[in-house]
Amino acid sequence: MGNVHELNFLKEKIDELKKDGVYRKLPILETPNETEIILNGKKVINLSSNNYLGFANNPRMKKAAIEAVEKYGVGSGAVRTIVGNMDIHEELEKVLAEFKREEAAFIFQSGFNCNAGTIQAITEKGDLIISDELNHASIIDGCRLSRADKTIYKHSDMDSLEQVLKENRDKYNKLLIITDGVFSMDGDIAKLPEIVELAEKYEAMTYVDDAHGSGVLGESGRGTVDHFGLHGRVDFSMGTLSKAIGVIGGYVAGSQTMYEWLSHRARPVLFSTSLPPAAVGAIIEAIKILSETTEYTDRLWDNAKYFKEKLGTLGFNTGHSETPITPVIIGEESKAMEFSRKLLENGVFVSGIVFPTVPKGTGRVRCMVTAAHTREQLDRAVEVFETVGKEMNII
Ligand SMILES: *Cc1c(COP(=O)(O)O)cnc(C)c1O
Repeated sequence: MGNVHELNFLKEKIDELKKDGVYRKLPILETPNETEIILNGKKVINLSSNNYLGFANNPRMKKAAIEAVEKYGVGSGAVRTIVGNMDIHEELEKVLAEFKREEAAFIFQSGFNCNAGTIQAITEKGDLIISDELNHASIIDGCRLSRADKTIYKHSDMDSLEQVLKENRDKYNKLLIITDGVFSMDGDIAKLPEIVELAEKYEAMTYVDDAHGSGVLGESGRGTVDHFGLHGRVDFSMGTLSKAIGVIGGYVAGSQTMYEWLSHRARPVLFSTSLPPAAVGAIIEAIKILSETTEYTDRLWDNAKYFKEKLGTLGFNTGHSETPITPVIIGEESKAMEFSRKLLENGVFVSGIVFPTVPKGTGRVRCMVTAAHTREQLDRAVEVFETVGKEMNII
């Protein structure tokens, strides 16, 4: 048996990871998450962050964070339902609702626990959750916490979705369709207008996870719902404050009724301490910046287009991305990982992504271009892609 405290059952699993060649150490960053970073002691161009607008180290936002710390301290001290609901939390929700052009917005400590807390709060036994097969892990976990039944439809396949709706409409009380707004591995956009049409036809509710659409799509980054002009027709418009917005947190925007219910029943609000003042102050400033100018989102799209065109011209397969997420599809898993490793050796950090995160045989590196990259940095990265791509017979 051995000593129970030695956790031998975990050691065995870790040995298996090592045998399968997937054991790894977490990379260590010694700088802010900028376009050039020091990673594991080496200076490299960063093409792997979700810091789409470069806000993670924005001077105006840092100043706002420091001011919030001076006024409110470093922690909120309690859950929101007891004594952790500060006036800046309320202010942030007002600012977000206005920015998202919805009645209300309810904030969470992260995008992950926003999905985990919201999905279970708005569904119950006798309901059915209908989820795109490529939805994010936090949606899947959120669904698992719900007492409702769950089913999936084929990725962005409207025939498949309609069939599920038709078959189940009469068997359940409420139906809830959930989709990512932008799918994080391929960068494709959900067919939201069609989804909303079908939802209205079969009287289902809709829930969009806009983690990769917030700060990216729509007017000055208002998201996928704004991009398609579907305000008032998507019931739950969820977003993160950790990717393009550059800080931490998540929210759902929608109706006042939704707001009131979540404030009573979303478990992360009842049982987990609210966002720290520094984060809240910085996020309010981020939304202010986006409300003042489209400069950041414009530059993001310009850079993404520039980079994607350069890679395409060289002969790389960048898939069917419609957003700044730029996959470079290699195929074989080990080759994708080797490509990533060689890019890094040559000064460009692009993470390799393989099965089970993406289907077998579609191993890739995923480039995340940001508004903060300079043309010179993008050109340098493209040069390295060309050299390594030729060396490995990818192009
Ligand atoms: C990153 C991500 C989340 C989680 O957001 P965090 O704020 O990082 O917790 C949720 N959904 C999707 C689609 C994401 O990509």
